[in-house]
Amino acid sequence: MDGKALAERVRAEVAEEVRELGELGLATVLVGADPASDIYIRRKHEAAGEVGIATRDSRLPSETSEDELLELVAELNGDDAIDGILVQLPLPDHIDEARIIRAVEPIKDVDGFHPFNAGHLYLGNPTHVPATPLGVVTLLEEYDVELQGANAVVVGRSNIVGKPMAMMLLHAHATVTICHSRTRDLAEHTRRADVLVVAVGRYGVVGPGDVKAGAAVIDVGMNRTDEGLRGDVDPAAAEVAELITPVPGGVGPMTIATLLRNTVRAARYRRNLLAFPGG
Ligand code: NAP
Repeated sequence: MDGKALAERVRAEVAEEVRELGELGLATVLVGADPASDIYIRRKHEAAGEVGIATRDSRLPSETSEDELLELVAELNGDDAIDGILVQLPLPDHIDEARIIRAVEPIKDVDGFHPFNAGHLYLGNPTHVPATPLGVVTLLEEYDVELQGANAVVVGRSNIVGKPMAMMLLHAHATVTICHSRTRDLAEHTRRADVLVVAVGRYGVVGPGDVKAGAAVIDVGMNRTDEGLRGDVDPAAAEVAELITPVPGGVGPMTIATLLRNTVRAARYRRNLLAFPGG
């Protein structure tokens, strides 16, 4: 599954929508100097710039207090030029991540991490949805992968990937199994999957023998190894699966493109072109 090509098309659509909507603003917040976070933020800014979304890049030192960060979030909440706010995770240990996530106005929460938006996804009335699993659903739709009645197995249960992914597959009428680090026999589950989504963060956690013949395999993992960027799935699984996402070039580009799409959605909510549910 070519995530790069589909992401390009999504970005072109977004550029068109941005032209129709006029000025859009996306703010990112980074606390500390984590090199991986720095790369992600730069990619988001580049991608936003290419589609005509104005960006604001706030960088705070790692010793920033929780209150100082809350102040910045409040300022961005109140800034009319800002449609979407992204607080880059992970935050330093002395900051309560959940508290910061709750401080972002739900209507501007383009990451979809706020409990308000997570709750709406859980209830089956999605508002802002996390970009990675939403990008995965876009890929599955593009490749006509049948979800209704399919056995879908999600490996990983994080709030940003695994859990929202499982919810979205459930709402698409798949029979969903969620696996995690305490799952007894992981391969027993993955081998039954018609649709397998792996979001663990460990290269090779799923090998070719762990995949059902003809399955659609989505590899969310991003692991920096001596051989370069690798996913969680052994690439040899491509010989068994019918469809598989490469790393790089699969889920990664879709995440960024979907984030831009989420920013357009926020702008529509904020301009009353789309109804945002009341709190
Ligand atoms: P995370 O918060 O660390 O969660 C990892 C999950 O994997 C946890 O639920 C953990 O189980 C589970 N796990 C760990 N070891 C396992 C094992 N041996 N067998 C089965 N499950 C196991 O990570 P995340 O934020 O969800 O990200 C997962 C991966 O996706 C990372 O490589 C990350 O870099 C990548 N990612 C990529 C994108 C993208 O755009 N391509 C976006 C986000 C994340 P427990 O809950 O029991 O600990």
